[in-house]
Amino acid sequence: MDAPRHALSDGARAVAESGLVKGTAGNLSVRVGEDMLITPRRCALAAVEPHDCVRVRLRDGAVLEAPAGSEASSETPLHRAVYDASEAGAVVHTHSHFATVLSTLVDEIPPVHYGTVAFGGRVRVARYATFGTDELAASVAEALRGRRAALLANHGAVTLADRVDRAVDLAIELEWLASVAYHATLAGQPSLLDDAELERVAEQARTLRYAAAEAR
Ligand SMILES: [Zn+2]
Repeated sequence: MDAPRHALSDGARAVAESGLVKGTAGNLSVRVGEDMLITPRRCALAAVEPHDCVRVRLRDGAVLEAPAGSEASSETPLHRAVYDASEAGAVVHTHSHFATVLSTLVDEIPPVHYGTVAFGGRVRVARYATFGTDELAASVAEALRGRRAALLANHGAVTLADRVDRAVDLAIELEWLASVAYHATLAGQPSLLDDAELERVAEQARTLRYAAAEAR
């Protein structure tokens, strides 16, 4: 149990230090077998220690282990829905600035940069529902189909990966992409990459990854 707890608190600190969250916003989780560890409710991510993390059973949301006086993040249903719908090993949710700005303006992040493929394709915006509800969880799971990121309308962003550190890196990249897309759109009419080019980029990334793996 120790390694995932440490990975989660390290990830929480990394999110806080990256400036992706303000105050007590944002939450992270990591899958541990049939359960998940999730950051506690109303807690600044910079201050999360390994023993603060709450253990929740994925199947029914039952809290199995929580430090005295602490509760699982209010977005526990969202995290559970992501694990249910994917092979994710970790999930990061933030209210990062430009991701949130864009979530009020578009249905997907305009593909202004080839980095879009890091998320498995164009990043969709999940339709709005009240925070902490099963309705929001379902809408996010749907927007994430085949993707590693989604925006949440009028709310924020979510990323998933096999490991916490990678999900945090994706959250940072997502905020950068949202910032570029926002500013490009504000300045004019940016040229966009079409699906054929995004597929070529994905193919090129695969080729280079295989070449690097073979060289090792
Ligand atoms: Zn939120």
